[in-house]
Amino acid sequence: MNTEEIVTAYRELLEEVSTEADRLGDLYKVHMVCRKGCSDCCSDISLLPLEWFALNEAHKQKPSPNTPEQAAMQPADRSDDRTVEAAAGKCPLLHEDSCTLYPFRPLICRTHGLPLLYLIEEYDSKGQRTGTEEPEWQISWCDLNFTEVTEDNMEEIFDPEDVLNMEEWNTRLKELNRAFLDTPEGRDFNGENRIPIAEILS
Ligand code: SF4
Repeated sequence: MNTEEIVTAYRELLEEVSTEADRLGDLYKVHMVCRKGCSDCCSDISLLPLEWFALNEAHKQKPSPNTPEQAAMQPADRSDDRTVEAAAGKCPLLHEDSCTLYPFRPLICRTHGLPLLYLIEEYDSKGQRTGTEEPEWQISWCDLNFTEVTEDNMEEIFDPEDVLNMEEWNTRLKELNRAFLDTPEGRDFNGENRIPIAEILS
């Protein structure tokens, strides 16, 4: 696959995640307090090279602002705000608690607020799994949404079919990222090392 095909496949994956996230948001709507203006999950994260490249392309293609109000929404023109947000550990793409690249937000941003299923495994510095015990599945959830959920009752509230299986999504994302690293654009990145979102604006 060339870079364009990989980015297209990546964006299709994001749409799949959003579709499943919408289904779960509807299913758990009595619990959900997520709303426009809540940015508690928007911390200063770093991304895989493919995610960073696609988000940077979207940032570069954003239309130029026509009005002072639109100009104020451009993260690249908000160095003072960025300094404040960075100091607070917030994502530099935030403006007044909204994402300035929302349609292009990365995978993890589409899962905010929902119950997430992870496989807990430990690795040494060479990437080899440590320990002999079988890896364990673990569900995490947003305390703002699921205020009554505890470790003791979570199995009654979360059906295994109705949580976001992050292993599945992340495996597909990593495969696309590996293919991207073999392209001319991907070879400009430092292997699989993650890159802070803030570098898009630097
Ligand atoms: S990219 Fe957008 S949704 Fe994701 S953390 Fe930053 S502001 Fe939030």
